[in-house]
This record gives sequence, C-alpha cells and structure tokens, in this order.
Amino acid sequence: MTSEIYQCPGCCYQFNELLGDEYEGYPPGTKFESLPDDYVCPDCAVCNKQDFIPVEDQSVPHS
Ligand SMILES: [Zn+2]
Repeated sequence: MTSEIYQCPGCCYQFNELLGDEYEGYPPGTKFESLPDDYVCPDCAVCNKQDFIPVEDQSVPHS
C-alpha cells in the first residue's frame, strides 16, 4: 500500500491522498487526480494542479 503525496513546488504544501484536505473540502482518500482542474494550492494560491510534484514516501526507503 502506497500513499500518494503531491507537493507544491512553490511553498512545499503537501496534499496527501490518504488525508485529503478537509479544510478545503476534500475528504480523506481523495485522489489527487480527482481534484478539479482549477485546483490551486490552498497555501500559496499561486501554483495549480499541474505544477504539483508527486513525492515518494520518504519514510519507506527503497532497498
Ligand atoms: Zn503552494
């Protein structure tokens, strides 16, 4: 089981699919892909969905 995390390149805000962003109205389990196309970073409001970068779960190093 992998957690998918996407990071804003502008402010390092991370959207974790497992957690969603309830403050923004996205419940836990929300797929990043399912976010609206006009989604913008809730922290900096500058970077949009296409700018987000998927990040590896760094708590589980690859062997
Ligand atoms: Zn941001």
